[in-house]
Amino acid sequence: MAPWTNWAGTEAADPRHVVTPTTTEQVVQEVERAIAQRTTVKMAGTGHSFTGISAPVDTMLRPDRLAGIVSVDRDAMTVTALAGTPLHVLNAQLGRLGLSLHNMGDIEEQTLAGATSTGTHGTGGTVASLSAQIAAFSMVTGRGEEVHASPSSHPTLFEAGRIGLGALGVLTEITLHVEPLFALQAHERPMSWDTALSTYDEMTREHHHVDVYWFPHTDRVMTKVNDRLAELDDLRPLSRWRHWLDDELLSNTVFGMITSLGTRAPATIPRLNQVSGRALSERSYSDIAHRVFTSPRRVRFKEMEYALPREAGLEALREVRRVIDASSWRIGFPVEIRSTPADDIALSTSSGRASMYLAFHVPVRADHTDYFAGVEDVLRAFDGRPHWGKMHTLAADDLAKLYPRYDEFLTLRDELDPDRVFTNPYLRRVLGD
Ligand SMILES: Cc1cc2nc3c(=O)[nH]c(=O)nc-3n(C[C@H](O)[C@H](O)[C@H](O)COP(=O)(O)OP(=O)(O)OC[C@H]3O[C@@H](n4cnc5c(N)ncnc54)[C@H](O)[C@@H]3O)c2cc1C
Repeated sequence: MAPWTNWAGTEAADPRHVVTPTTTEQVVQEVERAIAQRTTVKMAGTGHSFTGISAPVDTMLRPDRLAGIVSVDRDAMTVTALAGTPLHVLNAQLGRLGLSLHNMGDIEEQTLAGATSTGTHGTGGTVASLSAQIAAFSMVTGRGEEVHASPSSHPTLFEAGRIGLGALGVLTEITLHVEPLFALQAHERPMSWDTALSTYDEMTREHHHVDVYWFPHTDRVMTKVNDRLAELDDLRPLSRWRHWLDDELLSNTVFGMITSLGTRAPATIPRLNQVSGRALSERSYSDIAHRVFTSPRRVRFKEMEYALPREAGLEALREVRRVIDASSWRIGFPVEIRSTPADDIALSTSSGRASMYLAFHVPVRADHTDYFAGVEDVLRAFDGRPHWGKMHTLAADDLAKLYPRYDEFLTLRDELDPDRVFTNPYLRRVLGD
């Protein structure tokens, strides 16, 4: 097996050197060596991107020994962690301090730097993504210099570097805004397509976090709404048995079997989707926030996700359904629908506009090309912006039109990484050189 592969196993690389730095000085040394030898350095996360965005070419830096919280400021309500900290470690350490992130995506395996570098987001809340929860960061640039960026120190770098795609420098520490530990009440229930779409705006107004899954070829939709609880007492988490039944057996094991059956016999998929849609029944539970936001994903898949302007999202979804219904594709995975507020980060998919995210999945061994290409045409017509860590076919020319601050990012990259120490084929495609 190649020394580096992504989670889905769709991207692999064989770097010439693998280094596991324990200090910022070691990161600086590797960058200086690369500048002198005209080679490249890539700090990897956990490879949870579906693209080759973290694929190393010459030297791969592993994040494993740059992990853990280094300081807490309870007056400012910020926490500084080493950039390679896995999110599940961060959540556990924050929990012990009585603290929590504001919002997060649906898994907690990624590293802090990896997740924020591609704009990893959840749904709802008042802050768009994990990157938008960053208060400051420290980075080693492509000139081998250490820089600390915050709204008051190197503000231009702060604006852009919170979603840096690994193109501006190696993040060594990240300071996050945090909140007192809080719990969520979750309510999951099936709905019809018509009800879910006609009440979506109301649901997002009334609930803190709304996640919707539509099962293609059916009218079935599963909704999950989460609301903040005032107290941490009297929580009613899923029992171990119910958790195992619903999340491990139904969501991962049975879904994995259904998915592999559907891959072998695509004609059965519409019927299987009816079964999957029915198998997920109504349930309510309450738990500490990160345990409600995230769950394990053991079924391997490929994913494309686009952010649409929030006001165009439902129309885009209806158009996607029309295209799927008119096609001969057989789609076994639900389409996921999430929303976030706008943020002020140059290359954020939510930069300057509130967003609705539509995410499309296929089993890892299935051919995604026609489905993703057909849906991508629809999403592009609605000015969709692709998630930086998920599959898409756009290149620099297309992306420049989608981001008013794209050139600002390129100028910063020229200043911070003139020798392209951090480049790789994916970055050359999306950034143009
Ligand atoms: C099962 C699954 C579920 C997912 N769920 C969600 C979700 O709910 N919401 C969502 O938005 N996304 C989701 N994603 C996508 C995922 O969050 C992103 O792709 C994320 O970037 C992966 O983090 P990572 O640590 O694996 O980083 P990698 O994929 O390894 O790297 C991503 C980028 O970060 C850079 N990087 C890593 N460390 C550093 C560093 N120290 N300094 C500078 N750059 C660095 C890499 O070079 C690369 O450019 C999911 C992915 C999977 C596989």
